[in-house]
Amino acid sequence: MSDKAVLSCRNLGKSYEEGPQTVEVLSGVELELLPGERVAIIGSSGSGKSTLLNMLGGLDTPSRGSVWLAGEELSALSEKQRGLLRNRALGFVYQFHHLLPEFTALENVCMPLLIGKTPIAEARERASALLKRVGLGHRLPHKPAELSGGERQRVAIARALVNQPALVLLDEPTGNLDQHTGQGIQELMLELSVSSQTAFLVVTHDVQLARQMDRVLRLEEGRLIEDHA
Ligand code: ADP
Ligand code: MG
Repeated sequence: MSDKAVLSCRNLGKSYEEGPQTVEVLSGVELELLPGERVAIIGSSGSGKSTLLNMLGGLDTPSRGSVWLAGEELSALSEKQRGLLRNRALGFVYQFHHLLPEFTALENVCMPLLIGKTPIAEARERASALLKRVGLGHRLPHKPAELSGGERQRVAIARALVNQPALVLLDEPTGNLDQHTGQGIQELMLELSVSSQTAFLVVTHDVQLARQMDRVLRLEEGRLIEDHA
């Protein structure tokens, strides 16, 4: 295993108890992501893609195995330390955007910076620059309910990128986006992977998007395998 890896997991497993039955969703997932790498995960609905992403991002606890994020083993950290590490090193774009409904687009994107103690003027400047980058310069004062599905998803992407994390995990980010906007997000990912060595791990149904990545992995029967299709 490379000690440069921004994310890795070994023998990762997850089971759910359903009454008397144990359902094994993940069994022995192995993964290593280097700085600046862009990797797609594909797999049929219910194959465990969201479950895997949640464990890699420290949002859920594995039944077996370990995850290392930016050199730290997640299970060795306290809840508080894990939160700090996530704020510093990780951006997460959820399948359903999870924006805060009471706050504007600009405030939602500022949030990770303010949690990280960035001064408010600088936070607003960086957040609005990024919102302009994703084509939402005209939507800064709007709340999520006043935005379309695709616009909300772009706010969520800006929020995930604003801390300049080493790694961004995205769960089906382009599902709601038209082709032009989806293309813009792909270009942004490519640019950041080169200029800032940001790594991207993206779960997607979008074959077009998957093909743009450096590698494609398929989640099947609880394991990740290289996809050469
Ligand atoms: P995907 O994102 O690939 O569509 P998920 O990771 O959402 O798949 O779900 C994988 C499987 O795990 C599904 O069969 C789902 O029903 C099951 N599952 C997910 N979360 C839970 C849970 N909290 N309790 C029981 N089963 C779950
Ligand atoms: Mg899912």
